[in-house]
Amino acid sequence: APESISDLLDRLSAIVPDYPVEGVSFKDLTPVFADPLGLRRIVDEVIEPFAGQFDVVAGLEARGFVLAAAAAYASGTGMITVRKAGKLPRPVHRDEYSLEYGTGTLELHRDDITPGTRVLVLDDVLATGGTVGSSVRLLAMAGADVIGVGVVLELEALAGRKQLAGLNVHSLQLV
Ligand code: AMP
Repeated sequence: APESISDLLDRLSAIVPDYPVEGVSFKDLTPVFADPLGLRRIVDEVIEPFAGQFDVVAGLEARGFVLAAAAAYASGTGMITVRKAGKLPRPVHRDEYSLEYGTGTLELHRDDITPGTRVLVLDDVLATGGTVGSSVRLLAMAGADVIGVGVVLELEALAGRKQLAGLNVHSLQLV
């Protein structure tokens, strides 16, 4: 039988204890991206429930870019970037959100979205949901219709899904 997506993720994900700070168990998906079948499997499976429902894929800096570019290519759509503050050269929407320590700021080019555009948001890991929540607010500022959120791993204990009430969130594996 073909390997299940869970077995594939268990085999290829690298779990790094106490990174970047003590107490955090960092889920490093770069070996999954580096695997030729792994990359294709996770991209295909993360977009599968949303097939035909989106016009563009939004990738969240930085590992979300990898998934979003591949997903856009695979689905024949375009890809837009939600970036950390100060990286985008033209007028932006900006959203500040709280992190465990301090705040983070994300930006989106104002003209990346025309109102009513159906957007699928992709990132590697859903933790507290702060990053996805901020991205969804930015996309809403631009008039987007966020039809769903796809992530590879969902850290269940951090309850990010609860912060994203009303959104269709699809994860490939709960950890
Ligand atoms: P959050 O905003 O708390 O949902 O955090 C999600 C963002 O931080 C994503 O862009 C992830 O790449 C990264 N992240 C947070 N926690 C982890 C973790 N334990 N392992 C890997 N990435 C993480």
